[in-house]
Amino acid sequence: MKAAETGKGTAKYIVGEVKRFDQKNEMFKRPRWQPELRELGRKVYGPVYPKDKDGHTLKDLAFKNAAWHIETGFAHGTIIHNSGMYAWDMKLVGVSQVPPGLKLEVDDPAKMSQDIKEVAKFFGASQVGICELDRRWVYSHSFHMRTREHKELELPEGYKYAIVMVFEMDYELAKTSPTWVAEGTEGKGYSMMAVTATMVAQFIRGLGYKAIPSGNDTAISIPLAIDAGLGELGRNGLLITPQYGPLVRISKVLTDLPLVPDEPIEFGVTQYCEKCKKCAKYCPGQAILWGERTTEPNNISNASGELKWPIDAERCFAFWARNEGSCMNCIRACPFNKPAGWLHNIVRWLVKHTPWLDSLLVKMDDLFGYGKQASAKIFWNNIVA
Ligand code: SF4
Ligand code: SF4
Repeated sequence: MKAAETGKGTAKYIVGEVKRFDQKNEMFKRPRWQPELRELGRKVYGPVYPKDKDGHTLKDLAFKNAAWHIETGFAHGTIIHNSGMYAWDMKLVGVSQVPPGLKLEVDDPAKMSQDIKEVAKFFGASQVGICELDRRWVYSHSFHMRTREHKELELPEGYKYAIVMVFEMDYELAKTSPTWVAEGTEGKGYSMMAVTATMVAQFIRGLGYKAIPSGNDTAISIPLAIDAGLGELGRNGLLITPQYGPLVRISKVLTDLPLVPDEPIEFGVTQYCEKCKKCAKYCPGQAILWGERTTEPNNISNASGELKWPIDAERCFAFWARNEGSCMNCIRACPFNKPAGWLHNIVRWLVKHTPWLDSLLVKMDDLFGYGKQASAKIFWNNIVA
């Protein structure tokens, strides 16, 4: 479905001064410097042991750990910026080497933008958008997850654009959330984010331009994705895309390559979220707001100046600790996450064009049983030998 263009992007959520966010205050970083959260951090990041429980067997554990392997072993975007596969400057060596001094003249930035999108999709992205880089979304400080080094993050001049890429996760696996099988599709998303971003960055460097690949490091991905026309912000605090709902992971490449930005889109998400609330209903940590949007933060993990449904990341993380693993219930429950098909496409059309039907559509979604947890055994039983 092609969503309408509004030309607003993140501007429609901003109602006050947006201060660059200190990455130290991101929930995943806080257990590393706040003693009272250390025990929760140990449960989320420490070794976990298989259980006699659906989706938490040794096979499930091995599966999710393998899916994360590229990110945790080589990319390191969840640990620090400018490291591993997300290094800001990676030498072109061996067969990848381009003779120094070569630079492609870009006389048609629109064609170059199309080429970049095709290359990024070929390398693994599901959808690609481009925006001018708004530096308010670049972290003010970085925080190293291992060394706890906390320092100012200054992006060099010249990085004018962000190429933002989304990676579709698996609908069937997500339905098993909050199991380790569901985490398998999340981990694979993180691994694909890194693989694709680093290859797109190398392509741009090979053309003679600068490129910084980035996962969850360096800059906040969701506002960049909204500005790049990839979706809107949902009650669950996530990017809602027209094609995959919130069932995506996001990475980006910052660059000085001449490009043409995309227009932001609007397809009825805010109005639908006002009626829906399924993510709040299925959130085991009760971390999602039931009421109206607000500018009031829950705690230091919420950014300032935005009118939205702020997630209570402390409650969310506390559930992850109890669960000894991540959770995707707010993705699992979201009616926007359905795969393409004529019926789901009609519903998407109705959400966009007939907002007065939203309450009815939410009831229909419930009636069809969408949002409920599926057994992780379905995944293993459906694998064809
Ligand atoms: S990840 Fe789980 S606990 Fe956290 S907000 Fe989403 S549903 Fe709630
Ligand atoms: S589950 Fe419903 S309320 Fe939550 S983000 Fe999706 S559409 Fe919005």
